[in-house]
Amino acid sequence: MEIQTFGVIGAGQMGGGIAQVAATSGLKVILMDISDEATAKGMAIITKNLQRNVDKGRLEATEMAAILARFTLVTSIEDLAPCDYMVEAATENEALKFKIFEEMDRVAKPGVILGTNTSSIPIGRIAARTSRPEKVIGMHFMNPVPVMKLVEVIKGIATDDETMKLTWDLCVKFGKTPAEAQDFPGFIANRILMPMLNEAIFTLYHSVGTVEDIDTVMKLGMNHPMGPLALADLIGLDTCLAIMETLYDGFKDSKYRPCPLLRKYVEAGWLGKKTGKGFYTY
Ligand code: NAD
Repeated sequence: MEIQTFGVIGAGQMGGGIAQVAATSGLKVILMDISDEATAKGMAIITKNLQRNVDKGRLEATEMAAILARFTLVTSIEDLAPCDYMVEAATENEALKFKIFEEMDRVAKPGVILGTNTSSIPIGRIAARTSRPEKVIGMHFMNPVPVMKLVEVIKGIATDDETMKLTWDLCVKFGKTPAEAQDFPGFIANRILMPMLNEAIFTLYHSVGTVEDIDTVMKLGMNHPMGPLALADLIGLDTCLAIMETLYDGFKDSKYRPCPLLRKYVEAGWLGKKTGKGFYTY
């Protein structure tokens, strides 16, 4: 099936970024979220990103207009019916993703691939909620999507080779470099990254260093472009907690227990950059 119309569920930081790269590659994009405010917020960020590229001479103004014209904003999953490929990038919550996948499966045309940008939930578990497990795949973009080159592609136990190939080719069309990971909690990226971020939060919790000292040590000492606490704030502390819970539930290994300080911040609504307060104030 030739992919012309691409559906994205969730217009948050990841869904908006995925929609932006899909529209930039020439596909028509239907972007869905739960409210007009949420889709408008996502669209405002996409417009700002594209405008920055125009201002820096990296994109023609006419091309920006053409990219924006490829978007349709919707608030009902039914409106995704014309899509030739769909990716879900809603909040990292297993029950929510199960419900969304049941709905995607109901509205999607036969044979349409249903991708998920989940950071950690097993693909096979999500696929089992649909009547087309062979067409369900993990398409895990990195944040910020327009900048980061990698897409981790995760084949569930039932995913067929055609789904893998189409998804791989789509990543390349988007200007990304795909890498394959097997379907275990956290896949490759977050199985390695999240325990490191969680340990940085434990280091703060145990008063071994201040926020600034912890980030300085990792930036200057390990040559990381960002400190782990700034990165946790960028990812979203709710997302970090959800991923740690998935790792902990999936492996039943105490090394994945989320730091109580991370939980405390999330309970307080301090989710990082997206809410203006996390380990830093924005
Ligand atoms: P976010 O909070 O910025 O956005 C989530 C969006 O989903 C919100 O706009 C919310 O309104 C929407 N949403 C919630 N319920 C919905 C529903 N029923 N239908 C449609 N939309 C719905 O979160 P995010 O950072 O964009 O994360 C989205 C997904 O991407 C998660 O699975 C997360 O684990 C994954 N991810 C995040 C990062 C990161 O760095 N933040 C990186 C890779 C993958």
